[in-house]
Amino acid sequence: MQHNYDLFVIGAGSGGVRAARIAAKHGARVAIAEDHRIGGTCVIRGCVPKKLLVYGSEFAQSFRDAAGFGWTVENARFDWPTLRDNVQAEVTRLEGLYRKNLEAAGVAVYEERARVEGAQTIRLEKSDRVVSAERILIAAGGHTYRPLELKGQELAITSSDAFHLKQLPQSIVIAGGGYIAVEFASIFSGLGVSTTLLYRGEKILRGFDADIRTHVQNELTRTGVNVVTNAVFTDIAIGPDGRRRVSLSNGMAMDVDQVMFAIGRVPNTSGLGLESAGVALRENGAVIVDQYSRTNVASIFAVGDVTDRINLTPVAIREGHAFALTQFAGKPTHFDHADVASAVFGRPPAAAIGLTETDARARLGRVSIYRTTFRPMKNILAGNEQRTMMKLVVEDETDRVVGVHLVGPEAPDLIQVAAIAVKAGLTKAQWDETCAVHPTAAEELVLMGEPVSHDNEAPA
Ligand code: NDP
Repeated sequence: MQHNYDLFVIGAGSGGVRAARIAAKHGARVAIAEDHRIGGTCVIRGCVPKKLLVYGSEFAQSFRDAAGFGWTVENARFDWPTLRDNVQAEVTRLEGLYRKNLEAAGVAVYEERARVEGAQTIRLEKSDRVVSAERILIAAGGHTYRPLELKGQELAITSSDAFHLKQLPQSIVIAGGGYIAVEFASIFSGLGVSTTLLYRGEKILRGFDADIRTHVQNELTRTGVNVVTNAVFTDIAIGPDGRRRVSLSNGMAMDVDQVMFAIGRVPNTSGLGLESAGVALRENGAVIVDQYSRTNVASIFAVGDVTDRINLTPVAIREGHAFALTQFAGKPTHFDHADVASAVFGRPPAAAIGLTETDARARLGRVSIYRTTFRPMKNILAGNEQRTMMKLVVEDETDRVVGVHLVGPEAPDLIQVAAIAVKAGLTKAQWDETCAVHPTAAEELVLMGEPVSHDNEAPA
């Protein structure tokens, strides 16, 4: 049977677009459907607009730091609509580039919702058409989790709404302690918003090394974010003055202008018709795939956040690329999910690759820990108390650096380079053979001579 397409991709985000382009490059007849905007979470309501807001929020500190270097910055004022609209204009520009690249690759673009109707059949909802494809790739991403059982939850915004606020609130409470919560708490507080971060546990950024978690939480508090731990919302209501009144499980209540959920994301599989084709899903709705992104149905594949493996843009891109090479270029390829670096763009940013100290001790036994904290050179003249933290986790038996954990202004860029060394399995001795670049913060990475703890000792 001749299908309409060799590949039909559902979702034009990072993973779907890459897969579509690579498959088309290898001669496949490819179509892609997107019911929102081309570019997906990363470009439209994630990494890109977020990072631009982070840049915008950093100026206030830079203006304060400038005085120590002799500058007088007078009448500095911030205008939210200018930043918001400029960010959106950039998002629109990138969306256009994504569309152009798809079209240039010969991919048919359907800007409407697509639903799976069978193992090789897709229904396009708006145009009410049915098309067939030899292979279907689910790359539908995820969306912010909203606790529907919470009274007044509809009064809260999510990160997707935060990019479009008519005006900047004077105060906000953000629930969550992960990437999005920390990044938006940093953005809002940097822009002068009175910010509360509400986390259900003791220490934010679960999954990161304990030293990163402590350092970031202390820095958020030091820079004026009100970090409330061991509590969740019990109720959100409209207060007497029209603001939001939030009640917390610890008995506290507060009146704020905005409330935001950043308590995780959910795979976009609801209503996608996957059950009708017999595709197996996890309890949270994630599509179950093997290392080649194959589902249990031979013609259906999935990549990116919809599979809830490692929910990061570069991972989705690699998964999409590997899928296309395997299926359309005759080159079986799978992405190695080990040692993927990531960064939290807070103020200051944090970044990590490899094993945390706790995981390394549990898995490898004897490890040595190298750690330094210092005030970067620039902060001394600036009178800025922000400190940088760098930590290496080294396996004693092999001397391999198995974990790097950083907090500081350059952390996200440094971790990209450190990731090469960790992925390559380089030893601490090899790190130390590398000559320092002076004066930089990065040089500390090759200058940590003595361990602070080793041989299964508890961390210092
Ligand atoms: P995360 O999984 O990072 O964090 C979710 C947070 O919400 C955790 O602190 C979690 O607490 C808390 N939480 C979960 N459920 C509840 C609940 N019912 N009530 C109260 N708190 C709750 O999710 P995010 O939404 O921040 O981000 C989603 C994913 O997107 C990230 O994991 C990451 O993969 C990706 N991302 C990456 C970014 C980057 O690379 N810079 C930026 C933004 C997102 P607990 O720890 O106790 O479970």
